[in-house]
Amino acid sequence: MKILQRIFFFCVVSFFPYSMAHAQEYYWQQQVAYEMDIDMNVNTHRFEGRQKLTYSNNSPDTLDKVFYHLYFNAFQPGSMMDVRSRTIDDADPRVRDRILHLSPEEIGYLKVQSLNREGKSLTYTIDGTVMEVPLAKPILPGEKTTFEMQFTGQVPLQIRRSGRDNAEGIAYSMSQWYPKLAEYDVEGWHANPYVGREFYGVWGSYEVSITIDSAYVVAATGYLQNPQEVGHGYEKSGQTVNRPKGNTITYHFQADQVHDFVWAADPDYTHTIAQVPNGPAVHFFYQTDTAAEHWQRLPEFTVEAFQYMNQHFGRYPYEKYSVIQGGDGGMEYPMATLITGHRSLGSLVGVTVHEMVHSWYQGVLATNESLYPWMDEGFTSYASNRIMAHIMGNGSNVDPQANSYAGYFSLVESGLEEPLSTHADHYNTNRAYGLAAYAKGAVFLHQLSYVIGQETLDRGMRRYFNTWKFKHPTASSFKRIMEKESGIELDWYFEYFMNTTHTIDYGIKSVEDKGEATHVTLERGKLMPMPLDVVVTYQDGRREMFYIPLHIMWGKKKEERAMPTTTLSDWPWVYPTYLMVIPQPVGDIKQIEIDPSGRMADITRDNNVYPALENTRFEGSTNSQ
Ligand SMILES: [Zn+2]
Repeated sequence: MKILQRIFFFCVVSFFPYSMAHAQEYYWQQQVAYEMDIDMNVNTHRFEGRQKLTYSNNSPDTLDKVFYHLYFNAFQPGSMMDVRSRTIDDADPRVRDRILHLSPEEIGYLKVQSLNREGKSLTYTIDGTVMEVPLAKPILPGEKTTFEMQFTGQVPLQIRRSGRDNAEGIAYSMSQWYPKLAEYDVEGWHANPYVGREFYGVWGSYEVSITIDSAYVVAATGYLQNPQEVGHGYEKSGQTVNRPKGNTITYHFQADQVHDFVWAADPDYTHTIAQVPNGPAVHFFYQTDTAAEHWQRLPEFTVEAFQYMNQHFGRYPYEKYSVIQGGDGGMEYPMATLITGHRSLGSLVGVTVHEMVHSWYQGVLATNESLYPWMDEGFTSYASNRIMAHIMGNGSNVDPQANSYAGYFSLVESGLEEPLSTHADHYNTNRAYGLAAYAKGAVFLHQLSYVIGQETLDRGMRRYFNTWKFKHPTASSFKRIMEKESGIELDWYFEYFMNTTHTIDYGIKSVEDKGEATHVTLERGKLMPMPLDVVVTYQDGRREMFYIPLHIMWGKKKEERAMPTTTLSDWPWVYPTYLMVIPQPVGDIKQIEIDPSGRMADITRDNNVYPALENTRFEGSTNSQ
């Protein structure tokens, strides 16, 4: 009896509070408030910095240490980024061995002069791009604490993304330039050493004062607080900035609900502004030496792109966005992008659209890019493909996602494919990372529209945005949204397409004449199961769809279709074949095709059609080259 009572008591005290706490802890996130003053010396390319960081531990855990990223330390010979670039099979041509050959004046660094927590000095160890700070007095759950740091930095010669003197002559491209607290979330610390790839940051606010030679114009994340001091015209489009006389000038910027802060500076920036109706003011900073006429046309396309995104994918929540010439290609940051500017109009619009779409998939929906690079690059590629077809479309009916499918198929064929769930830093090749994150990630979404229906996907994308904005969604967060929106169970879809490299191949195995009916045997040739849309075209021109849901979906897609549709019984995935009965004589049938929409990433499409299409692939191959 006593023992039983004790067991009962034990159960009550241990399980009951656990389940209550668990419900409350379902989602939480840490918070930061940065106040930083930077004094930039444009002759030495070094800066002095002061950082006051208020950190809220909203986790249920006691933290006995914190980590900071010191990204600029990657730009030193022998760094992990340098070694990675020199040993990977297909190095980024922008990096290769350039870090190895940097002189002491050209390397980048961040050095910590002092670090205090509420007036008490802290010890720390710096290992490459990561600083570990043990805390004798831990940060308790729910506690808010303040760190103060003095630091100095040297801006590296521009190699990858950030640095000075980029290929187009932009003086400073300042991304990942300050000691940045690593994120701690449900999955623990994310103190990834920087090897040149993805980022993840803590949500919060930034107040940043940048003091620099008054000849320089500064562009940045956030809102400028002192336009009257900086110079008349800074916040007005097309006016020359009349800078006040004096050796230095201080720009004050402020940003809320962001997870990073970027800035750039150049003496020759032209600054224009375009207003998106019911949207942000878009600021453009560029040099007029090359491609200026393309930059003058860029605002009209950017405004259209913002309107498309606001309408289809959720409303951009800030009042400002800056397109800044700088960096080494295109890279997204909160409320801003750094892009290179010497481009054709199409390329300039393309890179700007891609980076501004990242304001949704990374800026506002801040996935851990290292764990889910396909959720920011793939979703961004998918949405920007749609925008580009919309704003640059020339009436052609080429599928906007066709290039993504071609990229994914080439990855499968290369034999280099690794699962989408691979950590971004750890892909074996840059090619496998790039095609997985950008191409297969876009295919993931477009193919999902095939599974759940296009209208359902579109509604789901807005629901995902509105539910997870200013948070850190994971693949599972996204899956749950799409399941709720569609009423379809989707774990199999994520499991196969994200965690494995299994492929899809369905085919028409045989078509048999059964008098008044036609028996079509369908077969699954590869491991990944999918629902099927099979379209039959009759001799009289009528078209009819036969929809075969996958058994484990426990639901059916709803989609507007241009033809009558018959829903057949589910296909349990263990069956290698499926018998589809068409209640028409075979003589009435002109063609049968599996998924004419092409959204299913079927790696062998030539067995999708009956009668088999004539193989014209090698026609003309005898022509001399
Ligand atoms: Zn991107």
